[in-house]
Amino acid sequence: MINRLKNSPLFYLVLLALVVFVVHFWSTILEMIDAPEKIQSFIVLRLKNVSTILDLNWKHFFTDISLVSVALVIEIIFVGWEYSSLKKLLKRGNKSLQTDVFFFVLAVTNSFKFLSVVLTFGIFYFAFGIVSDFGHLNLAALIPFPWLQILVLSVISEFTAYWAHRLSHKFSWWWAAHRFHHSAEEMGTLTYYRVHFLESQINQLFRVIPFVIFGAPLQYFVIYYIITELHNLLIHSEIKSDWGWVGKYLIISPLAHRIHHSNRSEHYHSNYSNFLTVWDRLFGTFIEKAEVKELGLSENPYNQKGIFNDLWIPYKDFVNAISTTKSNSGV
Ligand SMILES: [Zn+2]
Ligand SMILES: [Zn+2]
Repeated sequence: MINRLKNSPLFYLVLLALVVFVVHFWSTILEMIDAPEKIQSFIVLRLKNVSTILDLNWKHFFTDISLVSVALVIEIIFVGWEYSSLKKLLKRGNKSLQTDVFFFVLAVTNSFKFLSVVLTFGIFYFAFGIVSDFGHLNLAALIPFPWLQILVLSVISEFTAYWAHRLSHKFSWWWAAHRFHHSAEEMGTLTYYRVHFLESQINQLFRVIPFVIFGAPLQYFVIYYIITELHNLLIHSEIKSDWGWVGKYLIISPLAHRIHHSNRSEHYHSNYSNFLTVWDRLFGTFIEKAEVKELGLSENPYNQKGIFNDLWIPYKDFVNAISTTKSNSGV
């Protein structure tokens, strides 16, 4: 695999980023060695922050509820009440849908973030803290206009999200965590929230990279959050539209993401982009149209023995994958 990577320009880009990062970090590491109390205060602050994660932020809560409501209404307008996620949810649905609801409740009440930290023993949380607290390069300051800063940061974030998603299908340890999202046997607006604690923590480490490199103007977070959350809810909905030329050239459509959720490997090794279609097109993984017969995994151990069994499977698979270090094929 290393030989294959060596032929890729991405390999040299990642190598360059690593060198820049280590050089940038070097002075911080030397400072830490000279003043160990800095390490101590960092640990104390991070530990204090864990408890504040659980504080319910009402503004956040109402934003999430509003976005879900808007997505559910848009879905009803497009597919009608009969096929809508809301109707299925009110009927209490099957085990797959119940898992989606469980994760939705955890997410909007902020419990998801807290549990993600606790149930991964804080390992990724501390790693994330080290990277985000000490690694600022703040290149955004070199970009003259705020709108241009937002644009550049969005494109870089999308690029990172594409590769994080693609690699989560490639490496078996990462797939062990991401597979939980793919275990949904039915798409519904709330399927977006079906992300395992382990995956959310691993992904956070990758998502922070653009912010570390660029720094982010404050208004970026609000704009980016609202647009991408609504988009992610819609692409998991019962809407099966390809969105015409918009879905072809600009933004990942619900049909494109449905193809990614198909249980056939030629489908789920495609359409990795989070929002823009450009990365799938550029790296040859875009499938515009395909008939999707069944959703989920070809061999699906989920949605059978209850939610707590389902929560345990990714941990088990993750440890197995690390100890055997084999990779998935097809990416
Ligand atoms: Zn995926
Ligand atoms: Zn999805």
